[in-house]
Amino acid sequence: MVLDVVCKMQVNEKTARCKSEHKGKTYYFCAEVCKQKFDKSPDRFVKP
Ligand SMILES: [Zn+2]
Repeated sequence: MVLDVVCKMQVNEKTARCKSEHKGKTYYFCAEVCKQKFDKSPDRFVKP
């Protein structure tokens, strides 16, 4: 399980349909809406 950094939910990376690449790392999301929020401003959700 991995953390959905937008809503802090646990997501199964094997079944997650929503994912995004950011700076070489893959992020998984519980829903399309979380992915869209992340894609808009990934730096808001990714800790440096
Ligand atoms: Zn989510």
